[in-house]
Amino acid sequence: MRKPIVVGNWKMNKTIREAVGLVSELKSLVVDVSDVEVGVAPPFTALSSVRDAIGGTNILLGGQDVFWESGGAFTGEISPAMLKDAGCDFVILGHSERRQHFRETDAEVNKKIRAGLGERLSLIVCVGEVLDQRDTGQALSVVGSQIRGCLTGLSAEDMERLVIAYEPVWAIGTGKTATPKIAEEMHGHIRAIVADMFGGETAEAIRIQYGGSVTPDNIEDLMTEPDIDGALVGGASLKAEAFSQIVRRAKK
Ligand code: PEP
Repeated sequence: MRKPIVVGNWKMNKTIREAVGLVSELKSLVVDVSDVEVGVAPPFTALSSVRDAIGGTNILLGGQDVFWESGGAFTGEISPAMLKDAGCDFVILGHSERRQHFRETDAEVNKKIRAGLGERLSLIVCVGEVLDQRDTGQALSVVGSQIRGCLTGLSAEDMERLVIAYEPVWAIGTGKTATPKIAEEMHGHIRAIVADMFGGETAEAIRIQYGGSVTPDNIEDLMTEPDIDGALVGGASLKAEAFSQIVRRAKK
């Protein structure tokens, strides 16, 4: 039985003070939730303060990206050890906004996964097709190739620290959610590729989140699908009440 996991990606939003305010409100709303894992990924500048604010609670803390080198002359980058030092449990990798705006590739995501594993961080690895790829019938092959590219060379043991997030790019921040049926088709496809690469046990155990305009109103329908194990939430995670409703409704 896979435990659902719901994570809020705050993107480039919230000052330190606002971030602490949001998470303080959130913690009182999810304090009693034990059947769903909850995480937040604030901007780097707010990580330490949010860590202090959630100390002793069930809320996990994550970064939104990381660099693969451990230190040195890489102006502007953050290492896995720095995320760990700031109190992170996980890091989001390969988000479509990083692929789109910063030309991040599957090979780079693979290097970041390996670096994160070295610091015992958990990893949320994002994949997803753009609208044109879906419209031209390439969605399954595009996402399949992202999965193979990102996960190449990893072991079944490494996979225990991974969560995969299927985020169709056309559904992110657009208000246009994939139907549960479309999402389930892709989640099943991803699980089958993981089975091919790492075996059935790993495929059965890995959690696959859906991401793309998730709200309190659509989470329950998505969660009825057998291969959907939670959500990666952007916009709706910036409001404590809405995000806590998504968390509560994500239980299987
Ligand atoms: C995201 O950016 O990961 C995301 C899913 O955003 P939204 O929920 O706003 O579509």
